[in-house]
Amino acid sequence: MIKRTLIVGNWKMNLSIAQASFLVSKLHKKIAGHRDIEVVLAPHTLALQPVSLQIDRRRFRLAAQNAYYKDEGAYTGEVSFTLLNDIVHYAIIGHSERRVYFNEDLDMIRDKVSACVRNQITPILCVGETSQEWSNGESKQVLHDQIVSALSDLTANEVAGMVIVYEPQWTITTFHGRPAKPDEVKSAVDFIRKQVSELYDDTAAKHLRVLYGGSVDEHSAGSYLRVEGCEGVLVGSASLNYQRFAAIVDSAYRKNRERADSDAKRQD
Ligand code: PEP
Repeated sequence: MIKRTLIVGNWKMNLSIAQASFLVSKLHKKIAGHRDIEVVLAPHTLALQPVSLQIDRRRFRLAAQNAYYKDEGAYTGEVSFTLLNDIVHYAIIGHSERRVYFNEDLDMIRDKVSACVRNQITPILCVGETSQEWSNGESKQVLHDQIVSALSDLTANEVAGMVIVYEPQWTITTFHGRPAKPDEVKSAVDFIRKQVSELYDDTAAKHLRVLYGGSVDEHSAGSYLRVEGCEGVLVGSASLNYQRFAAIVDSAYRKNRERADSDAKRQD
């Protein structure tokens, strides 16, 4: 089974519509379509519609950064996954900025994951511990609790189709983090798969895509993408610069070529 490497750019609450349009035009010039790489852009909600009309959908897909878990109704100020489902393929759920700044708890995140799936949007579920939890050696317990809760309404088949990102708070630029080391990413990625395998089955664990996010840039992306079992990266600040983001996509391209070459040599 060939899985496409997933490179997600989370623009957060940045860029006016005009700036977003400028960035998209630069990305079009800089990033070619690759069959084995999926490039996903996550503009803020206001920019999703204009960006969706501008992008070449063969090369780029869109993700929502957030939505409300109810499908419709009297929820002033909110946008639902139902309203977004003809615009986006993906939605980022459980990002630590939402957990910390907007008090999104485990139940809210579970309901948003379910709402995504119900509306044929693939959840990109972010999980990860705080720096305090990391120092206390509680990382695995936190990951376990976040995963068990977020997936609790889903079937094995639904879990197999989703994306989980290991994005500990201590690595995110917003929280003045330091990037994780590749061996730290490896141990978290393995742990996430093991959890899914125990909760569901090996097939779900194998099909699910697991990513790393946290201060990824054009220099570090290659080292994360070479971690066995890490199938992409979630990029925040570096995704706002087209040269840096294109260089990250290029790292994925080079890593995939290396892998294809070594597979071909093994078969000779
Ligand atoms: C993010 O918050 O999704 C993220 C990965 O941010 P940064 O790359 O800026 O640390």
